[in-house]
Amino acid sequence: MSGSARLFERAKKVLVGGVNSPVRAFGAVGGTPVFISHGKGSHIFDVDGNEYIDYVMSWGPLILGHAHEEILKAVREYASKGTSFGAPCEVEVEMAELVTSAIPSVEMVRFVNSGTEATMSAIRLARGVTGRKRIVKFDGCYHGHTDSLLVKAGSGALTFGLPGSPGIPDELSALTTVLPYNDANALDDYMKKHGEETACVIVELIAGNMGVITPEHDFLEALKNVRSHGALLVADEVITGFRVAFEGAQTVLGIEPDITCLGKIIGGGFPVGAYGGPKDIMTKLAPLGDVYQAGTLSGNPVAMAAGLATLRILKKERPYDRLDKIGKTLENGLLEAAKETDVSITINRVGSVLTVFFNTQKVKNLEAAKSSNINLFSQFFHSMLKRGIYLPPSQFEGWFISTAHTEDDIRKTIEAARASFKELKV
Ligand SMILES: *Cc1c(COP(=O)(O)O)cnc(C)c1O
Repeated sequence: MSGSARLFERAKKVLVGGVNSPVRAFGAVGGTPVFISHGKGSHIFDVDGNEYIDYVMSWGPLILGHAHEEILKAVREYASKGTSFGAPCEVEVEMAELVTSAIPSVEMVRFVNSGTEATMSAIRLARGVTGRKRIVKFDGCYHGHTDSLLVKAGSGALTFGLPGSPGIPDELSALTTVLPYNDANALDDYMKKHGEETACVIVELIAGNMGVITPEHDFLEALKNVRSHGALLVADEVITGFRVAFEGAQTVLGIEPDITCLGKIIGGGFPVGAYGGPKDIMTKLAPLGDVYQAGTLSGNPVAMAAGLATLRILKKERPYDRLDKIGKTLENGLLEAAKETDVSITINRVGSVLTVFFNTQKVKNLEAAKSSNINLFSQFFHSMLKRGIYLPPSQFEGWFISTAHTEDDIRKTIEAARASFKELKV
């Protein structure tokens, strides 16, 4: 028995499913999850000493790779001064200054401990500001596991075919309307009927949790129009913030949300989320306003230091063109390898995040994503793992490239994919 298999047996006795977050259990692809011992740059190592080129990268946060020296230095420095005070620290202010200077629509920000906490709090703020109850989300978008948003959700919920969850009262789900992603007419029609009762529309501007899917022009126009009904537009940039551009997906797409949710990259590998927006909205939060939200470890100095170090490097180096180039090389190589081996795939990519769909059609919404061949994906996943390539263990996730990924990593990945495509049994 391998070290990973032994650990999984132990884990299953005391952790539910052996894990602390469902997709890690490999349920969708079968087999035993790999237990990681350490990582460096673009590579991770399991407890049995196997080495992998990593495309999970902690599900997005590690845009600079594992164990980046400058981030470690900041973490050590801050940790040695005391790890938490429950009182304000300078590093929180520096971090807030950097985030607000990066994203034009964000004038003020509140730090929390996860992306889920950010979206949950953003919904409360939107309801508090507008005095309305209804909210809108899109099919296959994932905004964390908070009750109101775990309705037809993506990510693990989609992977396991559990897009909702017992334990969420119908009365609450009834306030969430789910519309198809990339369907401008559906959104326009809904807003005409219910716009005046709607607190907010929350959206992943670029969807990342049903696989990567980009928004179409008319859908973005419909999103911009939400405000004419007095509803707020909440952009969930937990993945895309500092991933697709330093200024966020919203700036690239020319859309100005009322509230922006951040997470993943801004924590530099530590648990950090944030939500922010213009002053007139954010000042409705306690202690200035009466919408309440708090956190014992919010703005934790060590986590802030890791995030700040990350954002400072991204600001200085602006690696986005380089990441896009690496992404394009990988995309082209995978497409070529699939063509040579007669495997049908579709790749959706935005800069350094991409999804290989085992699908013959163009994927622009959840319905198309779900028509992918999950069996082929699972075979491919295990063939790649065997060859030292660690992919997200689900068809409905993005592969994340970091600045630590080298041309050699990409070349090896394409070679492994070619061999894995050849092995697929239809
Ligand atoms: C990961 C993610 C979340 C949830 O963040 P957690 O830190 O896992 O709670 C929310 N929205 C999007 C778009 C995400 O990708």
